[in-house]
Amino acid sequence: MKNKNFKRKKISSENIEDLIRDLIEGDRVALGRAITICESTIVSDRVFANQIVNACLPKSGNSIRIGITGVPGVGKSTFIESFGQFLIKKLHKKVAVLAVDPTSGISKGSILGDKTRMDYLSREDNAFIRPSPSGGALGGVANQSRESILLCEAAGFEIILVETVGVGQSETEVKEMTDFFLLLMLAGAGDELQGIKRGIMEMADGMLINKADGDNKVRARNAKKDYQNALHLFPKTESGWIPKVEVCSALENENIDLAWDLIDSYFKETKANGFFEKQRKRQRISWFKAVLNQMWYLELNKSEDLKIRKTILENEVKEGKLSPYFAAKELIKEATKK
Ligand code: GDP
Repeated sequence: MKNKNFKRKKISSENIEDLIRDLIEGDRVALGRAITICESTIVSDRVFANQIVNACLPKSGNSIRIGITGVPGVGKSTFIESFGQFLIKKLHKKVAVLAVDPTSGISKGSILGDKTRMDYLSREDNAFIRPSPSGGALGGVANQSRESILLCEAAGFEIILVETVGVGQSETEVKEMTDFFLLLMLAGAGDELQGIKRGIMEMADGMLINKADGDNKVRARNAKKDYQNALHLFPKTESGWIPKVEVCSALENENIDLAWDLIDSYFKETKANGFFEKQRKRQRISWFKAVLNQMWYLELNKSEDLKIRKTILENEVKEGKLSPYFAAKELIKEATKK
């Protein structure tokens, strides 16, 4: 009989192994609990978080990670609702949905926030939906999301959808943790109107013109041609892949299969030409660097003395009395002395 007491009790060294085992067996409650521990701001939880991540690491990686972005209102959650069900019902995949929202924790109501989303998908046994972590946690929002991806993979989720808002803050971070970056757009509203920056378009591996239904169908098809032409003018991508555009209606469940075909052909091509693995390796290094920076930051703020010293050095740098190089060296010397 399994000991499920981690579900009711506080996590401890006695029940952490049970939690990890259940997570790896695909238990969604254990997975949710484990993610909460990784998101915790309590320093002692970090020990358990590290234990969980270490145990999950060898079981992770066997998924495809898709970043999804687009301005609020473009239909991201409606699309994920349809697309997620397509992946589960037609392709028999296990699908996890994670959200990265840089505004959560800063403003009370986050953009991806609290509205009831993905009603049908959340009822599927093979779906796991996790809202955005609140900001300000120990590892930073992006590092936490990376951990959540690993945990979902270790729990057997094969397709990870990472949703973000297309307002230019978190896209680069999401691009850094996913294999394919999908941009949702609307027809008939110029790029400037949609607030989509050219840089975000350049990051996209695929674009979907959503709301291609009713009167909007023709406009969407025309927009597809325009965007496809525009994408051809962008610099060649390192992957060798030429970004593609499709139209769909998330609400009416139309062309969702075409969206998948687009994504699938990207994976076939980049797995064959080696780019997929190359990008994953690069992303692991960038995660390592992000964690290292974060740990340095914590280290340099661990005592009042250090904080005061840092402020003094900062002021000297500001006044041009001290070189940043020298100030940084000083601070590191003090932080690392016994
Ligand atoms: P998000 O803010 O990007 O997550 O957008 P939502 O998924 O919440 O959708 C915003 C609004 O657009 C909602 O009222 C949806 O019902 C509507 N919507 C989403 N997809 C479609 C679509 O394909 N066609 C139409 N006509 N409306 C849609």
